[in-house]
Amino acid sequence: MRQADVLDEVAALLREARSVLFVTGAGVSADSGLPTYRGIGGLYQDKTTEQGMPIEVALSGRMFAQRPELSWQHIAAIERACRGARPSAGHVAMAEVEAHVPRTWVLTQNVDGLHLAAGSRNVIEIHGTVHRLQCTRCRRARAVDDYSKETIPPRCGACGAIERPEVVLFGEALPRPAVELYARELERGFDLVFSVGTTSVFPYIAEPVLLARRRGVPTIEINPGESEVSDRVSHRLAARAADALPEIVRRAFHR
Ligand SMILES: [Zn+2]
Repeated sequence: MRQADVLDEVAALLREARSVLFVTGAGVSADSGLPTYRGIGGLYQDKTTEQGMPIEVALSGRMFAQRPELSWQHIAAIERACRGARPSAGHVAMAEVEAHVPRTWVLTQNVDGLHLAAGSRNVIEIHGTVHRLQCTRCRRARAVDDYSKETIPPRCGACGAIERPEVVLFGEALPRPAVELYARELERGFDLVFSVGTTSVFPYIAEPVLLARRRGVPTIEINPGESEVSDRVSHRLAARAADALPEIVRRAFHR
């Protein structure tokens, strides 16, 4: 099928949908100029650190507990790479869908906060966010725009202990409130499920597509390359989110 026909079909499905889920990953943030490699939220380019340590080790929960200063060097470098990034046209298009489809949710692996910055309200940040810090001792949490005014590692204003970002480090469990919310919304089901800019290597990221398929619900993948779910979706667009999503929204709601 021609790409234009797929766009029209997907737009027609979106126009009729009463509920939609967007599952997003690093590719969406790549459209905002963020690097899409490994590490927290995909935001790390190098396979090893300057110390010759794999990034999965430097950014693990275990390393943070033992040598938080070392983990923080890398967390701060990642945050610097995201700083000043603006939502892409893909983020903005997903936020616009909320105005048209009564029950719209975004499940994102990204920790950069760009879905919220674009205006989406129903966002599950399953890997957390760099925009909140929490004290490792007294658990006091606070919001931060960026880390430019922070000492690295940042310390709690109440008790002086080192703070950590509210992101899921390697080897750590997913945040329970996000997991529970996600499970509840998945259980309710969706009329339409999009997989956007993610290779879906994590089972909990591929699951909505597989579940929708079992229920006979249309599924759409928007990703320039092949992924774990490419041969499972009902509609596939080999495109960037920033190109395909605004076009789908325009065809669905603006003509
Ligand atoms: Zn504290």
